[in-house]
Amino acid sequence: MGAQRIDGRQVAERVLEHVRAEVRALTARDVVPHLAVVLVGDDPASATYVRSKANKARAVGMRSTVVHLSAGVTTDELVRRVRALSDDADIDGLIVQLPLPPHVDEAAVIAAIDPAKDVDGFTPENAGRLFRGDLGGLLPCTPRGILALLQAYDLPLAGRHAVVVGRSNIVGKPAAQLFLAHHATVTVVHSRSGPVGRYTRQADILVAAVGKRHFITPDDIKPGAAVIDVGIHRTETGQLTGDVAPDVEQVAGWLTPVPGGVGPMTVAMLLDNTVRAARLRRGWHDVARTGV
Ligand code: NAP
Repeated sequence: MGAQRIDGRQVAERVLEHVRAEVRALTARDVVPHLAVVLVGDDPASATYVRSKANKARAVGMRSTVVHLSAGVTTDELVRRVRALSDDADIDGLIVQLPLPPHVDEAAVIAAIDPAKDVDGFTPENAGRLFRGDLGGLLPCTPRGILALLQAYDLPLAGRHAVVVGRSNIVGKPAAQLFLAHHATVTVVHSRSGPVGRYTRQADILVAAVGKRHFITPDDIKPGAAVIDVGIHRTETGQLTGDVAPDVEQVAGWLTPVPGGVGPMTVAMLLDNTVRAARLRRGWHDVARTGV
């Protein structure tokens, strides 16, 4: 018997329905939420992600603006541009597509984003709020998407052991904090942990955010565990695949596919964060969140 498939496209569509309704409600109050995306350089993967975010924002009735800067931009110039967008009253949500070129001070650029418009949830203020267990700020999109998937499939975190493989500021660390806030017991493993199996085999919920194709194998899984595959890799034939080997499906209880798992949730949560930001910065009450 194979694992039950966790259908990210279906859950993301429910989030987007909520977002569309929110955009309609805001538009009726003369506010059309506006997402600005800063793209630096010519990395094709980043350009694809940015295009997709901007198109999806427009598809739900928002406005979106892409600010494309050359790969040679200095930290000072980029910080100046990000501050200007932060100060622009017309913009509700602001993200800087990562990674930035190596010569740019990423932390300085992120810190220039107004926390009220930080719809990626990466600023020190929003990260700090999450660290304190305060879920009222803007939360990072991929961890929020993972949580929404678990909730959609009635997979509770409270009292469960969640193991997160990866400790990036984008996925691993905020996912661990979010799970802690939802009362899971959390283990985070990384490249200095040694063989990960001795940890991952104890996981009721396993998140693979390693960035290594098919890194998690059936031997790493406790039978029946829920496995969330965050990884995205393009094979030689152009197919997308994840950090989890396909045959994990034989052992896991639940599994997210790649594509069609976490990816669509990340974009849906970005748009949900944008309507939240549009409301919150005007002091309008927050509406019930979809899932999270
Ligand atoms: P990242 O910044 O490269 O972080 C990878 C993490 O994996 C690091 O913490 C690293 O440990 C750890 N790691 C590397 N080798 C390991 C090993 N042998 N054993 C245990 N841990 C190991 O990557 P990321 O930004 O978190 O992204 C991870 C993957 O998710 C990528 O494939 C990315 O494309 C994908 N992604 C997908 C979405 C989505 O929406 N689906 C969103 C974001 C990212 P150290 O800290 O010790 O180096």
